[in-house]
Amino acid sequence: MKIDYSKYKNRLVEYLHLKGIQCTARHNVRCFIPGHAEKTGGKHDDNFSCAVNEDYVYCYACGQHGDVYDAVQWFENIANKKEQFNFLASVFGGEVAVSQIKQQE
Ligand SMILES: [Zn+2]
Repeated sequence: MKIDYSKYKNRLVEYLHLKGIQCTARHNVRCFIPGHAEKTGGKHDDNFSCAVNEDYVYCYACGQHGDVYDAVQWFENIANKKEQFNFLASVFGGEVAVSQIKQQE
């Protein structure tokens, strides 16, 4: 059966909320993408460099970007896209709870 990966694309912000990341689509936030500090020379993001959209995020300071599947890879360490899809299905189906990440102050 073919997987419809578009199914969870627009649930990125919802997933980020489950992770404890406060954001709203079409607003910029402090970068929450792992590796931001390393890629910007250890700099803390005080400039709200990360643009959040309905289906993707982009940080213009560290250059990293991604959709809901990339976010699952960042936060759950799941590299396989089909497994990412299955993970999101369990999360949004209420079968598994995701652990919140601690946001930097
Ligand atoms: Zn960043």
